[in-house]
Amino acid sequence: MVDFETARAQMVRRQIAGRGITDSRVLDAMRTVPREAFVTESLAEFAYDDSPLPIEEGQTISQPLVVAEMIAAAAVGPADRVLDVGTGSGYSAAVLSRIAAEVYTIERHEGLSESARRRFEWLGYDNIRSRIGDGSLGWPEEAPFDAILVAASGRDVPKALREQLRIGGRLIIPVGGRLGRQALLRVRRTGEDDYRSEDLGSVAFVPLIGEQGWAKDDPNDDPPQSTARAETTTRQTLDPVALIRDAAEPFAEIDSAEIDRFADRLRDARVVLIGEATHGTSEFYRTRARITRRLIQEHGFTTVAVEADWPDAARIDQYVRRRAPSPAEEPAFSRFPTWMWRNTDVQDFVHWLHRYNQDVNDPARQAGFYGLDLYSLAASIEAVLDYLDKVDPETARVARERYGCLTPWQRDPATYGRAALTRGFETCEAAVTSMLQDLLGKRLDYLHRDSESFLDAEQNARLVASAEQYYRVMYRGSAESWNLRDRHMFDTLEAVLAARGHNTTAKAVVWAHNSHIGNAAATEMGIARGELNIGQLCRERFGDAALLVGFGTDHGTVAAATDWDGPMEVKRVRPSHEDSYERLCHEAGPGRFLLDFRAEGREELQYALLQSRLERAIGVIYRPETELWSHYFEASLPRQFDAYIWFDETRAVEPLSATRVEGMPETYPFGL
Ligand code: SAM
Repeated sequence: MVDFETARAQMVRRQIAGRGITDSRVLDAMRTVPREAFVTESLAEFAYDDSPLPIEEGQTISQPLVVAEMIAAAAVGPADRVLDVGTGSGYSAAVLSRIAAEVYTIERHEGLSESARRRFEWLGYDNIRSRIGDGSLGWPEEAPFDAILVAASGRDVPKALREQLRIGGRLIIPVGGRLGRQALLRVRRTGEDDYRSEDLGSVAFVPLIGEQGWAKDDPNDDPPQSTARAETTTRQTLDPVALIRDAAEPFAEIDSAEIDRFADRLRDARVVLIGEATHGTSEFYRTRARITRRLIQEHGFTTVAVEADWPDAARIDQYVRRRAPSPAEEPAFSRFPTWMWRNTDVQDFVHWLHRYNQDVNDPARQAGFYGLDLYSLAASIEAVLDYLDKVDPETARVARERYGCLTPWQRDPATYGRAALTRGFETCEAAVTSMLQDLLGKRLDYLHRDSESFLDAEQNARLVASAEQYYRVMYRGSAESWNLRDRHMFDTLEAVLAARGHNTTAKAVVWAHNSHIGNAAATEMGIARGELNIGQLCRERFGDAALLVGFGTDHGTVAAATDWDGPMEVKRVRPSHEDSYERLCHEAGPGRFLLDFRAEGREELQYALLQSRLERAIGVIYRPETELWSHYFEASLPRQFDAYIWFDETRAVEPLSATRVEGMPETYPFGL
């Protein structure tokens, strides 16, 4: 026999409070309402599991956490009149009734509505009124409401529901639908005709079937023409190409006032993350450089953190901040894919940083260049040993012992990962983590000598520890290793920000591929594969103070290889796929433009683009023959990025030659 009271208290503690819901009214209400009374007897024992459960008519009772999140997001208070759309079992209406003054709930299935009504009666919840009907039209006779919660996913935000909000009222509704992915939106009515919409994250609900919802039970189908609505605010009547054309801010040149003005709009961010749709397109590098220069020159940004290995970027940093170069066996960025950072556009930007810093006397205000990635196991081990040899030879000896565990593998660490799968193989995990801990333990001791060198050694030791783990998990699954890599990038960014700004003031620009920068929660990689990325982690950590900027292109040329470790080729980029965001941008007209999803009056554009479409990602490998399978994924562009920069035609970056660059000084970081 299940002890429901204990199970309920435990559910609230673990699943609700334990996951960050702090609204005490919600927690108290959920401690009171017996969820077991809202499911059939045979499922009662699962009533406090962390999941939705089936109810009659093929519907579901929502997951407890989702009910809690929606009520908390609506900030429901004791004096509120609330509309609950999609009564289902009646559980969320019941929880609401323990918080609000009056609850109105609508369900389209008569049987569900009737059972819910009986439950309310039995429990004595007499401040709930229920009715059978189409909740997408709201309950106009009882409007306005302080809060409206919709437990089924709309194609868009029903006009009727928005209009039944009191000014200051909040509507919580999932919107979207394809493949079960939806965005949970909070729409606030801020004036008679003024609404503000926010995205609260990704959810999966049953469809809202009704006049202002989906036309029939399959949300993947378009509604039949006869039932499609004529309102201008609904997605199916919006023309995304026309809306893109209207919102597009065209620019002719990269070095232009339009790009500077766009950069000025990013100035209040703590972190600006700038993506790229390929790893080999000149326009993307040059635009990032232009925006970054402006942010550094005019708006106090001091950190450029890029998708490159820490030790390589450190050599660039020594050059741009005019510090003594450390000895190295190879020029920076000599490993595959060399063109990603050894190209003329990066070279120009690095020279600019070097010149800029010349006139900045305060070291705290100089712009630095840092690497976030973790592919430099051998060079990072070498850097930690070099550092310890100088500051603490005794610890250097211990470090040699410990890192010796990885020596046989460090030139080809993937083989270490494979060997680690063998039963009985002793991994180097303990050795590399102890080394990092020792270094951190002596932090105060080392820091006072030279904080820059300590940061460098610390990050290299972190990299060794992350890389050891990365190669081990690589064979277990791509999501796990991908997540580990992006978490490492995010942790490195935080460490650099802390070092540059004592935790509060430093501002950074991050350069990485769109797939790292755009919020993974809005893409197939996040939803279907559970992958996260640095853009998502920054959004979670910094909220609106993280701005995510993506790039796209239709056609042209790109620098890429056919196979990993293969030579760089200049390849032709195929015109974009007809179902892609790129095709919409291509059809919108202007060859080059900015699309700022945050700007005033972009609600319709956001709605029109919200439903996921294909998006192209070209990395260091490009295989045009299999493009649809290997380079397209699904995403919801306005949820993925805050702004998108479009170049209809683009060209490949120009790589630097492998040897020293003609005419450059010895200290030039790309030279030998
Ligand atoms: N909150 C409910 C609970 O706690 O049991 C769960 C609701 S269930 C996820 C969604 C409900 O919305 C279903 O019962 C479905 O029949 C109902 N629904 C879908 N479209 C509707 C509409 N236009 N009007 C009213 N109810 C609707």
